Amino acid sequence: DAADCYVNIDELMLKAGHELANHTGAEAGLVTAGAAAGMLLEAAACMTLGDPAKILRLPDTTGMKNEIIIPRTLRVGFDQAFRQAGAKLVEVGNTFSLGEYELEAAINERTAAVAYIFGPFLKAPLALPQVVAVAHKHNVPVIVDASAMLPPAENLTRYIREGADMVTFSGGKGVCGPQSTGILVGRRDLIEAARLNTSPHAGIGRPAKVCKEEVIGLLVALDLFVHIDWEVQWKRWRTMSQAIVDALHEVPGITVRMEDGDPNRQGPVAAIYFEAKWRGPSQEEVLKQLREGNPPIYIGSGWYRDELWVTPVTLKPGEEKVVAARLREALLSG
Ligand SMILES: *Cc1c(COP(=O)(O)O)cnc(C)c1O
Repeated sequence: DAADCYVNIDELMLKAGHELANHTGAEAGLVTAGAAAGMLLEAAACMTLGDPAKILRLPDTTGMKNEIIIPRTLRVGFDQAFRQAGAKLVEVGNTFSLGEYELEAAINERTAAVAYIFGPFLKAPLALPQVVAVAHKHNVPVIVDASAMLPPAENLTRYIREGADMVTFSGGKGVCGPQSTGILVGRRDLIEAARLNTSPHAGIGRPAKVCKEEVIGLLVALDLFVHIDWEVQWKRWRTMSQAIVDALHEVPGITVRMEDGDPNRQGPVAAIYFEAKWRGPSQEEVLKQLREGNPPIYIGSGWYRDELWVTPVTLKPGEEKVVAARLREALLSG
């Protein structure tokens, strides 16, 4: 339907942003082309603050505040998106810890923002509110990437409530919206600066344009997402995960169990651990058999250790039986 409507894109972006703000408790919002585009615009917003001459100059940041401080333990490949806007990343802390004093010492007159990344696999050395307290003492905004942190739906409001100035989420991950969309929310002046750095305007974000069909698609998906009955949803995940566990528990040499409530997991999953006495195919061999079979099956593997896990997020009813049977066959092969 959105494809058939001809609208003023600025007006659409502002109204869509208003919806995102309502869902997150932020002052303003902007639909982006994914969380990484959101990170690009966070950096562009904090460096230009909406100044039209600076917007046109990016990624050349001459004469701008262009340093983004980032805790070393929170570095991820996606943080290239900050540098894409021309920012320079300044790492603080070591690979285990970060003291508030270290963060404070890194802040100077070139600091544009402090970045904070949330991920199921990332370890935060200082909690977001502590980082916010230090940064705000020096009038430095805190920009957050929470791409993969939905669900739980509570996270939609959490980071703003904890004081973040800008937060970005993927629209195409747990929200299940159009895969190329993202959510950017935060302080009104910074979101306005982000908006001026992207389509329909010329600017560093123009190549990350979102179309009107994606804007409406994301809003519809988000509306569905916030109305999900999580009791029902988690029950479905639990039932599917349990079916996989039940199909595998006689395989000798592995421990298989449903894991529910682990903060590093996005919901109930079936987890498989290889014991010392395991003599079957290697983890890589199992993954290969699954992905090369018909239909191809992709499951999770080893963030922490020698493990495989199945998250039911994309499974349709009945598909858990196919995954269970194929996993059993792969584990018992060779
Ligand atoms: C997936 C991911 C991104 C990128 O999100 P897109 O919406 O695909 O652009 C950024 N940061 C983290 C931590 C992610 O997991």
